Amino acid sequence: MNEIVPADKIADGGEAAACARAPIGMLCELTHRCPLQCPYCSNPLELDRVNTELSTEVWQDVMRQAADLGILQIHLSGGEPTVRKDLEDIVEVAAKVGLYTNLITAGVTLTRDRLKRLKDLGLDHVQLSIQDVDDANAEKISAYKNGLEKKRELGKWVREFDMPLTINAPIHRLNIENLPNIIEFAVEMGAGRIEVANIQYYAWALKNRAALMPTRAQVMRSAEIVEEAKQRLKGILVFDFVVPDYYAKTPKPCMGGWGKGIMNITPQGRVLPCHAAESIPGLEFDNVKDRRLADIWLNGQAFNMYRGTSWMKEPCRTCPRAEIDFGGCRCQAMAFTGDATNTDPACKFSPLHADFVAAAERESGVPNPPPFVYRRLGGAKTDAVVD
Ligand code: SF4
Ligand code: SF4
Repeated sequence: MNEIVPADKIADGGEAAACARAPIGMLCELTHRCPLQCPYCSNPLELDRVNTELSTEVWQDVMRQAADLGILQIHLSGGEPTVRKDLEDIVEVAAKVGLYTNLITAGVTLTRDRLKRLKDLGLDHVQLSIQDVDDANAEKISAYKNGLEKKRELGKWVREFDMPLTINAPIHRLNIENLPNIIEFAVEMGAGRIEVANIQYYAWALKNRAALMPTRAQVMRSAEIVEEAKQRLKGILVFDFVVPDYYAKTPKPCMGGWGKGIMNITPQGRVLPCHAAESIPGLEFDNVKDRRLADIWLNGQAFNMYRGTSWMKEPCRTCPRAEIDFGGCRCQAMAFTGDATNTDPACKFSPLHADFVAAAERESGVPNPPPFVYRRLGGAKTDAVVD
C-alpha cells in the first residue's frame, strides 16, 4: 500500500484522504526532442528546448524522492527518452531505489546493445508506440522514413531479452481501418498488452483535430473489432481501449481523478497533475528544482485546485457519477468551453455536449481533411506541413 499519511489520521475522508495516498505512477518527460513529428503528440505546442532540460543529477534525485514518496512505477517518456545519453544513469538509480521502470519509446533510436545495457541496469518494461503497420502510412503520420522496420527490430530484441512489451497504438482517421492488422502486429511482436488509444484531442491533436477525427461508424466498428479480438486473444494479449471522448455519453475519469494517482514532470522540471495541465490558466506549477516532490503532491496549488469534488459546479456537483469520473477532463473542459471548472463536454449532461458531438461529426464527414500541422519546434506558429 503506497500511503504517505496513515488513513486513520485523516479526518474528513475526502480530499485529504485522496492526497494521503501517494501517486502510483510518475510520467517523466525526460526531453521533448524526438525524431518523429506525430500530429497528435501529447507534448505542448511550445516544446522545451534541450538547453533547459533537467540535469542527470536532478533526475536521479527525483527518482530517489519518488521512491521515498511511495511511487511504484516510473514511465520514462518524452519526446523520445532514448535521445538522452544519460538514460542509463537515470534507469540505474530508479531501479536501485526499487521503482518499476517503463521505457516509452518510438523505437527508432535504440540499438540492441543499448537495450541490453538498460535491461542489465534494471529496466523492467518497454512500451513501443506505432503509427501504423503500413509503411507508407506510418511514414506519412510520423514524417519519418523506415520507422516501422526499426520498430520491428526493437521488438525482436525485446523478445530476445525476454522483456515485457506493450504496443501503444494511437488510433485516428488515417489508421483506424488498419486496426485488425495493428492487433496482429502486436501479437507477432510478442507483446503482452496493446493500448488501442483513440486520440485525445489536446495540444497537437487539438490543432490537427479536423485531420484526425474518425467517423462515428468507424469508431463503433473499431470497438467491435477490439471486443472480438479480446475474446479471441484471451491469455495472449491484454487490451486497453481508450474510448473516444467525442462519441462518448459520459467522460472517462481523466488521470483517474485530478491529483489522485499520477504526477507528470516536464523536461524543465515542472510538476503537473496531467500532461496537458499547462493549458489551464491560473494554475501554479512547482519545479522539482525548488520544492520536494512530496510537498508538491500534498500542498502544490495546481494539485489541490481540482482534487476531489468540492470545486465542482452543477451538473457534476450533485451527480451520482461525481466520485466515478470526477467530472471528466479539466483540460478538455477548458479547451472546449473556456472554463476548466465546467463539466467535460464529453458528458451528455454538459450544455455544450451537442456542439462537441457536432464538431466531430462535421470534421469527420469532410471527404478531404486538411493537411497535418506536424509536431516540431515552432511548428504550431508557422502551421508547417509536410506532404
Ligand atoms: S507522439 Fe510521436 S512525436 Fe510525440 S513523442 Fe511520441 S513519437 Fe515523438
Ligand atoms: S455530470 Fe459531471 S459527474 Fe455527472 S456524468 Fe457528467 S461529467 Fe460525470
